[in-house]
Amino acid sequence: MSIFLYLVEHDRGRIDETTLGGITGARTLAESLGAELHAVVMGAGAASAADGLDAYGAEQVHLVSHPLLTDYGPDAWGESLFQLAGSVGASAVIATGTDRGNEVMAQVGARADLAMVANCLAIEPDGDDWLMTRVRWGGSLHERARLSAPVKLVTLAPHSTEAAATGQPAAGTVAEFTPELDESHTVTMVVDRVTVSEGITLATAPVVVSGGRGVGSAEAFDIIEELAGLLGGAVGCSRVVTNNGWKNHKFQVGQTGTVVAPDLYVACGISGAIQHWVGMMNAKNVLAINIDRDAPMVTKADWAVIADLHQVVPAISAEITRRRTLAAESG
Ligand SMILES: Cc1cc2nc3c(=O)[nH]c(=O)nc-3n(C[C@H](O)[C@H](O)[C@H](O)COP(=O)(O)OP(=O)(O)OC[C@H]3O[C@@H](n4cnc5c(N)ncnc54)[C@H](O)[C@@H]3O)c2cc1C
Repeated sequence: MSIFLYLVEHDRGRIDETTLGGITGARTLAESLGAELHAVVMGAGAASAADGLDAYGAEQVHLVSHPLLTDYGPDAWGESLFQLAGSVGASAVIATGTDRGNEVMAQVGARADLAMVANCLAIEPDGDDWLMTRVRWGGSLHERARLSAPVKLVTLAPHSTEAAATGQPAAGTVAEFTPELDESHTVTMVVDRVTVSEGITLATAPVVVSGGRGVGSAEAFDIIEELAGLLGGAVGCSRVVTNNGWKNHKFQVGQTGTVVAPDLYVACGISGAIQHWVGMMNAKNVLAINIDRDAPMVTKADWAVIADLHQVVPAISAEITRRRTLAAESG
């Protein structure tokens, strides 16, 4: 049976939903092509990351260890994955199309002298080839491509598959692998880790309350922050907001910002330009608050309130607070 390797991304053993979505997509692909899915974990905390991958369909988990793999380095990680793929005779190597996933897979491609296809949304076999639809230009273009390489190297578009454990856990046997690495594989290495923000991050928050030009000023973002806080969510914004200096770029959602896929995206005073839309189009529910009923964000949203956000947003916050106070008093 052919073997598909999936590179698991984790932070000191903690795996996020994007990666679990990726392994779910890789499992679906492996099942449809009659292949066996193996997971690959490396770096500090790899052993803890290996736990539970059987529930996502990994028949085998390759625990790749070496002193040069403790912290991330694209050369060392790419070389290790390349060696492992050769050692197990993998017919496909898959990762999620994050910055890191694409970087490691590009390293594997260069070492194997094979093409690597990034950010695939859909893959279907055509004889020995794969026909794929891939995301280009930040999501504003879907490209069809044919991959004929003998070993398929691909990354899956982040959030293209929702994380789902399999009903019947796979074997999940852990096998250790020690790659041969030397100083030549340490050209680029992570040398320090700085926590920029604690708790909920924009990329993983279940709720994102985002403001655009309609918010009007940096000070007026107080009402956006209040609602996000009440909903246990993160604050986002459009590029106009970052260009105006109302918010730092780390809050920007979109093609040149962060890609989000929350359960709920509240777009306040955001028109819904394509470059913004591609950053949040995988949100499960979208609520638009806008004075223009014809704004693209309004026409595509699941719900819309056509009114001034400066009245609507504080009113929502006040209602949430009122109901919570009542609930606390009554019980
Ligand atoms: C290469 C490139 C990359 C880009 N990348 C990004 C990106 O990553 N993210 C991004 O966001 N943009 C990006 N942009 C910019 C994008 O094209 C839009 O210009 C931007 O998203 C518009 O921001 P906005 O919706 O806040 O502003 P506008 O388009 O000006 O919309 C403001 C909206 O607020 C509404 N409004 C006004 N007042 C109120 C009020 N009081 N109450 C309620 N609603 C109100 C208006 O009806 C309107 O719909 C990029 C552009 C380019 C060319």
